[in-house]
Amino acid sequence: MALPDNGADTGSALPPLRDVIKRHGLAASKALGQNFLLDEQLLDRIAAIPGDLNGAQVYEVGPGPGGLTRALLRAGAFVTAVERDKRCLPALSELADVFPGKLRVIEGDAMKIDPVAEIGAPFHIASNLPYNVGTALFTGWMAQSEWPPKWLSLTLMFQREVAERIVAKEGSAQYGRLSVLGQWRSTAKLAMPVHRSAFTPPPKVMSAVVYITPEAQPEGTDIRQIEALTAAAFGQRRKMLRQSLKGVPGALKALEAAGIDPERRAETVSVEEWVTLARGI
Ligand code: SAM
Repeated sequence: MALPDNGADTGSALPPLRDVIKRHGLAASKALGQNFLLDEQLLDRIAAIPGDLNGAQVYEVGPGPGGLTRALLRAGAFVTAVERDKRCLPALSELADVFPGKLRVIEGDAMKIDPVAEIGAPFHIASNLPYNVGTALFTGWMAQSEWPPKWLSLTLMFQREVAERIVAKEGSAQYGRLSVLGQWRSTAKLAMPVHRSAFTPPPKVMSAVVYITPEAQPEGTDIRQIEALTAAAFGQRRKMLRQSLKGVPGALKALEAAGIDPERRAETVSVEEWVTLARGI
């Protein structure tokens, strides 16, 4: 494969990630959700999921020692990365020196940083998410009222169980609020399962990369309606819709108008049916 003509071939001069971790004393912190990926081929495959990144802007949460970051840089991306762990900054600064003008590292908490304000242009998001804030960050990116969002795609590593919830279809045990959030105005795919042994240290559970691209928002709908309906219905998923949706103004009428049997339960309602209900309230 030809390398992009952007100086990215300098990446071949990089030391192995294991050496970077050793030299900078980056013993993994459990509290910060640190499970590092060191296999450069695997990292290159993850960085390839969003397609051609040559010259594209990418926002990365939690670069750690910089494994995914270097793969994104090798793919020719401009990377803005937010890392909470100060110990990682010298290693990332070395990486920035190898890819001049391509990597900007922000020290801070991704929960408090607005990538739109930081980057200014449309951008992709790619991250091996820290498990403790992963779902909250995902929900924030998916639930924003501006649609299409400024982000062009999400390539996100989750615990496999969370990834399965995001792509689940109605009728399955995994189907819930995250599935509707991930699918009502986006395409969500399970792009790559990743074995726990690929991480250092290996977590207890398997992981998977989810790839999401925004689609047009269905007309006459709003994220607030979707959230109100799915929070109520999946909050009491064993109850019939007639009962669980009682507190959502207009929901029972919308059920009737849509011809949806009020004796059904939340997990049987398809994403398209949630959209119809949202339009009706
Ligand atoms: N990207 C690296 C890799 O793939 O090997 C590290 C991934 S590790 C699962 C998660 C990273 O997120 C860690 O480097 C951790 O320090 C960082 N992190 C944890 N909480 C964070 C937060 N709230 N904001 C920014 N980074 C955070």
